[in-house]
Amino acid sequence: MQHDARFDTRAVHAGQDPDPTTGDVIPPIHVTSTYAQDGIGGLRNGYEYSRGGNPTRTALETQLAALEGGIRGLSFASGLAAEDALLRTVLQPGDHVVIGNDVYGGTHRLIRRIFGDWGVRHSTVDTSDLDAVRDAIELGTTKVLWVETPSNPLMKISDVAALAELGDEAGVLVVVDNTFASPALQQPIALGGHVVVHSTTKYLGGHSDVVGGALVFADGREDLAERVGFTQFAAGAVSSPFDAFLTTRGIKTLGIRMQRHSENALAIAQRLSEHTGIARVLYPGLESHPGHELAARQMSGFGGMVSIDLAGGGEAARRFAESTELFTLAESLGGVESLVNYPSEMTHASVKGTEAEVPESIVRLSVGIEDVADLLADIDQALGRL
Ligand SMILES: *Cc1c(COP(=O)(O)O)cnc(C)c1O
Repeated sequence: MQHDARFDTRAVHAGQDPDPTTGDVIPPIHVTSTYAQDGIGGLRNGYEYSRGGNPTRTALETQLAALEGGIRGLSFASGLAAEDALLRTVLQPGDHVVIGNDVYGGTHRLIRRIFGDWGVRHSTVDTSDLDAVRDAIELGTTKVLWVETPSNPLMKISDVAALAELGDEAGVLVVVDNTFASPALQQPIALGGHVVVHSTTKYLGGHSDVVGGALVFADGREDLAERVGFTQFAAGAVSSPFDAFLTTRGIKTLGIRMQRHSENALAIAQRLSEHTGIARVLYPGLESHPGHELAARQMSGFGGMVSIDLAGGGEAARRFAESTELFTLAESLGGVESLVNYPSEMTHASVKGTEAEVPESIVRLSVGIEDVADLLADIDQALGRL
């Protein structure tokens, strides 16, 4: 592949050279736990044992690094496993982390309950407010600034370039969870971010058939990538060959899927905005969204996630979430099929009663790539039952 190939070309070809022995256009799935050695220590291409390395995982890690414009990608068994490997590599007891106040519930739970028990403190702030972030950073003690944009589920937009600058000034590692936008729509490393995190379970896999996670490191972070690579090997939360294959296959269509997700989501956000039962539609593609201008600058599309705040509060929100037919009521997001989620009892139940609690009036839609007319008809009939 040419080094300067564009995004959609990289998505299809990075890490996917035809098999050298047979010419398979699609590299085989290497379902092996171990590798024959040519004499003791005589490894073939460095492969020794599949926790340490597997060619199918290497292919995915190459593809991930190419898509995010990083120097190295690492693939894990889940998004949270990726987060855990990164955080346990960079944090010590006594350190402090600044996280967004509406990050993914599981990220908040990991930092609060697992790292909290281990003596790591955290502050939650609105990362779309630069002054609040500056105030929350404790010089010398804060080691990580965790940014999720668009955020989950309130769809707030944070300024990655400005936050990266703040992090650079304060010596803080700036981690960007790029799960919602995907690299097809947002390139955090080009904006100055230090490490990108993904739940590849979502848009990268794209078909709701695999759980996985990834980290990609920016140029200049070779040493950190090496250390986290050691944690991946030594703690062992790697992705299986079959999971890596499914993720690679999903990624090849990421660009066109994100285009369609974005088109469908905008049409649905507009339709929802017209209904009096909906107090607010949270979609960065709408000009009414407070982060619209920033999103238009730092993203190349607005993505497939739409949240709504129902005028009738929790009761109306539950009714809406249980009334759709084509939108399946389920956790997760980013697949080709449309899903509806009630965050306060589902994806974000773990942050109830904390500073990251999601209002009961919020419903989150993951808008799929079905025909938009069918999706709009489903939204209309669900609105009719409000
Ligand atoms: C789902 C999700 C995660 C966690 O990933 P898993 O693959 O479920 O472990 C992290 N961040 C965001 C934004 C997510 O949506």
